[in-house]
Amino acid sequence: MSSVTGSGAKTRAWAAVLSRIPTYAPGKAWGLPHPGERTLKPVSEGWQLLKIRGIPVRIHPSWFVILLLVTLALERSYRSQLAGQLGTTPIWFVALATALLLFVSVLLHELGHSLVALAQGVKVRSITLFLLGGVASVERECATARGALLVAAAGPAVSLLLGAALWQGRHAVSHLSPVLGQMVLDLAVLNLTLGLFNLLPGLPLDGGLIVKALVWQISGSQRRGIEVANASGRFLSWLAIGLGSYLLLRGGGISGAWLMLLGWFGLGAARSQQQLLQVQRVLRDLSVKEVAQRRFRVLEASTSLRQLSEMRLREFIGPQTPKDAPPPDWLLVCDRGRWKGVIDDTPLQELPVQRWDVERVSDHLRPLDSLPSIGESDPLWKAALRLEESGAPRLLVLSPAGLPSGTLEKPELAEAVMQRMGLRLPPEMVAMARRQGTYPLGLNLAQVAQGMVAAGEVAPAGSGPGSGRSRPVPPL
Ligand SMILES: [Zn+2]
Repeated sequence: MSSVTGSGAKTRAWAAVLSRIPTYAPGKAWGLPHPGERTLKPVSEGWQLLKIRGIPVRIHPSWFVILLLVTLALERSYRSQLAGQLGTTPIWFVALATALLLFVSVLLHELGHSLVALAQGVKVRSITLFLLGGVASVERECATARGALLVAAAGPAVSLLLGAALWQGRHAVSHLSPVLGQMVLDLAVLNLTLGLFNLLPGLPLDGGLIVKALVWQISGSQRRGIEVANASGRFLSWLAIGLGSYLLLRGGGISGAWLMLLGWFGLGAARSQQQLLQVQRVLRDLSVKEVAQRRFRVLEASTSLRQLSEMRLREFIGPQTPKDAPPPDWLLVCDRGRWKGVIDDTPLQELPVQRWDVERVSDHLRPLDSLPSIGESDPLWKAALRLEESGAPRLLVLSPAGLPSGTLEKPELAEAVMQRMGLRLPPEMVAMARRQGTYPLGLNLAQVAQGMVAAGEVAPAGSGPGSGRSRPVPPL
């Protein structure tokens, strides 16, 4: 590596930077927002360059910054190495070409992950080149430890093989042209560095994902794998911060700063993972009963449609207009203490006003089990899956006897989970999520629950003693 003298350390630092900090980001929900703290966001925006096997390849505006910095660094290195062989302008072109080829290498690394993920049946949303290199965003995690291992290993394997091939070819090429030979040598070193750096055993680097998959394979628990990989990631991050500060104090300048930045990102990623584990724990430990509200009203079967319409009218006279109001409470119908069914506004819309006095709600009931439901002793992860599967804004909570005891909506579920983690969501945020029928903060709990099922942390179809009349959740 004598020919990368002088700027060798710097070149390696670039390669380190190019190793894509959020390696591959399985969906937004994994980078759980933590109010007041910085979190890793999957890079998804940017311009689409091309599509490879249906995967959009994008460029984020911040990529131009790193392209410029890498070109500058390479230009400095080439100026000392190729002095006398090339003029100033050609050196700039060679530096720019090498920088572009380096990003082609990063793209190949991400394609390695992506194509293996596709082969494992995992959809790849996009590959984006950005400030810290590249990131492949996949829809979900692999369902098996073996699959996760293959996906994680594929990227570094591509970089190392590419690096080795370039290293082998460097002499042959340098006979053709010393300048091309220098480029090939630099790209070989950069690719080898890219592969090796990514094998460092801390999440979210590929090495961390490999550790996670291996521990998962051995222990049978993905959670255990994440915990071990997380711990080693935190250790590495502190090591990077420590080493970075030392280099900075010793005048190491940019290399030290980059190391500290990498350590900082690593700590953030470890924190996100830790939060995800916490959310999973809450979803497993809390039962529906502890979170359920009561967003239904009870009507007598003898109520006339006229009375129903007056009730509806009263609801809408208030600060809220029907357009942006949260979904109205369900109207459950009872006849002398027995549950009869549920009614909505359909008969009011379909029948002429003249009929409203003579028709009773009991003439227009839908059965109670037409509503999506969940048992009150079911865990919250089941409720999250059930909400997603039904597409309904709300679940009917049933007592062990199969009778309505409450309701559950997405925002209430999220609020309860966050509260258990010591975070209080602002009421306005919850209210807005209720109007939209979504989880606040983009906190996709269904995706978290699906991850738990996919990882075998929870049994998908288990219907406990208290699952009431809730339909079993199908395996995913
Ligand atoms: Zn990778």
